[in-house]
Amino acid sequence: MHSIFLFILIFTICFDVLNAKVISNHNVSDTCNLDNKLIEEIASYKNVTEFIMNEIISKGLGQEMYKEYTDFIDKFGARVSGSENLEKSIDYMINLTISHGLTDVTTEEVDVPHYVRGHESLQMISPRKKNMALIGLGASVATPPEGITADVIVIKSFQDLDQTQEAKIKGKIVLFDAHYVTYGKTVIYRTQGASRAAKKGAVASLVRSVTPFSIYSTHTGAQFYDDNVTKIPTAAITLEDADLMRRMQERGEKITVTLKMSSTFDMKKSRNTIIDIKGKENPNKVVIVSGHIDSWDVGQGAMDDGGGMIISWFAPVFLNIYNLKPRRTLRAILWTAEEPGLIGAAAYLRRHLSQLSDINFVMESDEGTFKPRGLDVAGSKTTRCIIAEILKLFTPVDEMTNSGGPGSDITMIINKGVPGASLLNKNERYFWYHHSEGDTLNVQNKNEVINCAAFWTAVSYVIADISKDLPRS
Ligand SMILES: [Zn+2]
Repeated sequence: MHSIFLFILIFTICFDVLNAKVISNHNVSDTCNLDNKLIEEIASYKNVTEFIMNEIISKGLGQEMYKEYTDFIDKFGARVSGSENLEKSIDYMINLTISHGLTDVTTEEVDVPHYVRGHESLQMISPRKKNMALIGLGASVATPPEGITADVIVIKSFQDLDQTQEAKIKGKIVLFDAHYVTYGKTVIYRTQGASRAAKKGAVASLVRSVTPFSIYSTHTGAQFYDDNVTKIPTAAITLEDADLMRRMQERGEKITVTLKMSSTFDMKKSRNTIIDIKGKENPNKVVIVSGHIDSWDVGQGAMDDGGGMIISWFAPVFLNIYNLKPRRTLRAILWTAEEPGLIGAAAYLRRHLSQLSDINFVMESDEGTFKPRGLDVAGSKTTRCIIAEILKLFTPVDEMTNSGGPGSDITMIINKGVPGASLLNKNERYFWYHHSEGDTLNVQNKNEVINCAAFWTAVSYVIADISKDLPRS
């Protein structure tokens, strides 16, 4: 895979959502010099934001949205990049949008990877027989049909790998047993492990699943082969089996396993879906709310990113019902093919590069739709001051963080100087379920999703409607 995706991944998907620095609104406001007229203007939105929140939370509209969400998730389940099921789910959302009276719905075609896992198995044969759960990582090459039987060497970190003699790695299966610190710090063993191990002569690589918690769960995800390095099969195993093999190695026991993996890989067509409420004064200026519609091929993609997708879809649907037209266009984007490496968002950026100056603000929800907390904001000081002022309308949902890289799909747009934000929420358990069979509706809480939708709709409306453009970095 191209190094550009690796770059994007390291700086975006790997963004550490849990360690973002919280800056209270109060502190930001202390150093802000916003015009009094603007402060008064923002405060004047209190009625409309209360109206929006109330209609969604108390008057049943949020319940209706949640029903649409559960219908969608149950109907389609996992929606993997390049699959017919993903395309059908996109058609479904387009029809649903139109059935709610929106007419400004368009799609943009994107070439996307289509990785289909086949049979996968891992059997330990020494020091004792044990079948182990595993899940192939995105776009892993297959093993020969008879599998790869080799000894395992447990490696703690890339530093450990660098310090281990090549002779000890050659011909072995490397198990990266890096314990979860943060997603950003740990995911590199999943994304780069195979090529790092192959460079030292490994025949396959395994990675401890990137999660702080496990009930014998395996967690897949994207991985990227370096050019000019042998592509070796690569898969994730459970925390339990990684710990088991580490203990065996510490006892001096020889660990031998047979790894079998098959898969196919080709390219398909998919689509980004764009839903607009055209601005009443500046239709060319756009505020984007977004989430991705694709998921991994395990679980239901309910949390990642069904929740973020549905609350972003709901913003224009709600505004249309109440004929609330903001000054600027409010655009919901349902990104395709986020999981294999931000493919849909990269295509959108390429296609709209000449219109970037028209994007006033870009928002994304792809880190959970648990209890909402506020926004993680990237932008100039003035932009952050304005957003902090807007967040005062939503107390206690008024936290503002500055992680330096909010979101995943939107990061490429933000890196071009467009201010943006991702949804902050109480997502401490997000990586328990992430990219696993556990990502189902059972981890979602109806009221929390509805509260996220209410906040997301109201805050995006205010940003799209205030008289002042958000200044660029
Ligand atoms: Zn996601």
